Amino acid sequence: MSKENTTNSQNITLHVLGCRGSMPISGPAFTKYGGATSSYLYMTDKEAIIIDAGTGILNIPDVGSRRISLLISHSHIDHILGLPMFIGPLGAKELSIYGATHEQLTIRQQLDTYLKRPLWPVGLDAFSANINYVDVKENAAPLQIGDVTVTAVPSNHPGGSTIYKLECHGTSVVYASDFEHEELPADRWDTAAIEAATSLAKDLDTKDLITQMMSSPLDALTAFSQNADLLLYDAQYTPEEYQKCKTFGHSTAEKANELRLAGKIKQTILVHHAPGHTDSFLDEMEKNCESNDMHFAKEGEVLKL
Ligand SMILES: [Zn+2]
Ligand SMILES: [Zn+2]
Repeated sequence: MSKENTTNSQNITLHVLGCRGSMPISGPAFTKYGGATSSYLYMTDKEAIIIDAGTGILNIPDVGSRRISLLISHSHIDHILGLPMFIGPLGAKELSIYGATHEQLTIRQQLDTYLKRPLWPVGLDAFSANINYVDVKENAAPLQIGDVTVTAVPSNHPGGSTIYKLECHGTSVVYASDFEHEELPADRWDTAAIEAATSLAKDLDTKDLITQMMSSPLDALTAFSQNADLLLYDAQYTPEEYQKCKTFGHSTAEKANELRLAGKIKQTILVHHAPGHTDSFLDEMEKNCESNDMHFAKEGEVLKL
């Protein structure tokens, strides 16, 4: 159904549960933007789709009778740290966990490396939640979660990460946290995942997207995000910090601005704030955005689609 002849009759919202990158942080200098790590809740009338399970997942509001799904971008610790408390006796009773194979481990195997002794007292089987694991194939045909269509493509990030696009009733949201705008050296790629994604290319366009993601990542993401209603973009660094942190897999607000203009993105929120960036530091970074259509995400904010 095209956007032009569709009205969004659903109340689709995106809740920022946690937007800090790399490590959680707390204290009086971090109250405005928050210190919990990556977790976002995309909610329709029937679906509660959580994107990433950083410590922010513990800020989830009551989702009523909605079905709970969890999309994992990758298993770097800041994106899964909150999971054991969420699937324990005080958290969700039933959910599906979606994630791509990275470093030749399925999503279940990746979570197993964290949730076992000595890093955690019990393994996944000991948790009370009833969990259904779904292997995401990057670059394959989209997944359907109720009336939400989810497309997954590989990000430009060391060891691999998944960029998700969620479409529902004519609206689209792209989650591109943990993305670097410049080409990474080949030894930072998850080569097996890229080969798998390339072999799944359903047409020439998506095959080109993979090649482009490896050589010209910002152009690839711009093509993938074209006309999105909302883009979540990794702006961990200032341009000066980025020069010292190349190949770490993150980007800047300046590159977000280029992307949003070229991709005609309606609204952009900047995510994955560096742990050392205080409220006043982020306020200064925000002043440089110079656009009403882009801002630094704040823990607890809710955006309507
Ligand atoms: Zn991260
Ligand atoms: Zn990462």
